[in-house]
Amino acid sequence: MSEKQTFSGNRGLQLEEPLIFEIGSYQNCGVDLDDVPDVASCLGDCAAPGNADLPGLSEPEAMRHFVRLSQKNHAIDAGLYPLGSCTMKHNPRLNEKMARLPGFSDIHPLQPQATVQGALELMDDLAHWLKTLTGLPAVALSPKAGAHGELCGMMAIRAAIEAKGELATRNRVLVPESAHGTNPATAALLGFKVDGIPANAEGRVDLAAFKEKLGDDVAAIMLTNPNTCGLFERDIIEIADALHAVGGYFYCDGANFNAIVGRVRPGDLGVDAMHINLHKTFSTPHGGGGPGSGPTVLSDRLAPFAPLPFVVSGEDGFSLVETMGDARLGADENPFGRMVAFHGQMGMYVRALSYMMSHGADGLRQVAEDAVLNANYILASLRDVMTAPFDNGPKAPCMHEALFDDSFLKDTGLDTLDFAKAMIDEGYHPMTMYFPLVVHGAMLIEPTETESKASLDLFIATMRDLVKGAKEGDMARFKNAPELAPRRRLDETQAARNPILRWHEPTAKAQAAE
Ligand SMILES: *Cc1c(COP(=O)(O)O)cnc(C)c1O
Repeated sequence: MSEKQTFSGNRGLQLEEPLIFEIGSYQNCGVDLDDVPDVASCLGDCAAPGNADLPGLSEPEAMRHFVRLSQKNHAIDAGLYPLGSCTMKHNPRLNEKMARLPGFSDIHPLQPQATVQGALELMDDLAHWLKTLTGLPAVALSPKAGAHGELCGMMAIRAAIEAKGELATRNRVLVPESAHGTNPATAALLGFKVDGIPANAEGRVDLAAFKEKLGDDVAAIMLTNPNTCGLFERDIIEIADALHAVGGYFYCDGANFNAIVGRVRPGDLGVDAMHINLHKTFSTPHGGGGPGSGPTVLSDRLAPFAPLPFVVSGEDGFSLVETMGDARLGADENPFGRMVAFHGQMGMYVRALSYMMSHGADGLRQVAEDAVLNANYILASLRDVMTAPFDNGPKAPCMHEALFDDSFLKDTGLDTLDFAKAMIDEGYHPMTMYFPLVVHGAMLIEPTETESKASLDLFIATMRDLVKGAKEGDMARFKNAPELAPRRRLDETQAARNPILRWHEPTAKAQAAE
């Protein structure tokens, strides 16, 4: 691999791209505008001095800028994206065609509802299928991400507890150690005490430890199923029953619904609230490619607290119940408020419904089956060279993702990060790293159902070659990686903790120091 520096900073056809402020100039413009006539300003001393310093680019410059940036963003449309828990699956083009229909894409949330009947009907249809697939009676469509859906479900739980007058005493939320960070964060944000439940040697919730934690002060458990170790929580019904017996609510993190959609209805397992990441299970681009959407399904016990707005249908067609004073709210309905200004992510509703309708019930079931099959193919093909902490052999398959730890790298002087960076040079986005926390140096690989066998075989062969390189002591291949990416190892912690969100023209001094 070459360290070759080029004069332009470009590497082959991989082009450097400065910030738009660095290439644009105020004088340039992509369109021909008439000269502004002299007008008397009415702004007095409120007028801004000078110009607004907006970057100006010609049309081809603007086009190149954004196309080059888009090429730096790895996408599922470019290659395998095995990010565990995130379900980066192919987004069928049919979804895009439907989402771009002007009747969906050119409407405005403040339009009279009589003029957007089709869009409201689509929301009602989507709600119907989400309820049918989960076996739960109500759904709040509006949350705008998985984490936002968690907040919605936990706010419904808090409202139910408050309605019973138990808010002061029922304040503990049980969260397994393998949980996604958003689970404890959501509980803490709402003022609950977070109490961790250990995992057993199999990577599942330790049932005895869970039962010991039960008491009258337990508000809820937040459990992911299949869990973040890629395993189905076998004791889930026993967990739900024991929790309900002490008056607690069962929040299920539904981000991994892709593994069981069409096969299992969470409502049958005793779940009270669950968010569904439309952008994971029902395709629709995410990860830099688009917004999220996290509708939250609710059980009978929580349905009366579902947030505003929601779609209802009557003789006059479809409409949204928007306010607490709406006469259509039943006597027992007591929405806890609202999650968003309008109604949620219309474009994602269209994509998700398009995905559901084009697959049908049998197709959705096959999605889950193929997702699980592909993950097991990877586990079975790598288990002899990588180490899988909860692997109990071919008779105990994983669900939709294969979890490895870093013990196969022991004595190589390399760690999970080195391994992941070397994958980038091979043209693969790394798997999810160092998550779940219950596994040392975790590597969580989720291929999804949309990869072909040929694509999986090449990935597996590449991983095996990397393991061979690691064991043979080819340190340069790992420690210098990524060598073929536009940037090497960035300080991700610094970037997350101290993001620079504003561009300032570099001063002469800073330039001299560079
Ligand atoms: C993705 C994910 C979430 C959060 O979803 P966002 O849409 O990213 O907010 C929560 N839990 C699990 C297990 C996830 O994989």
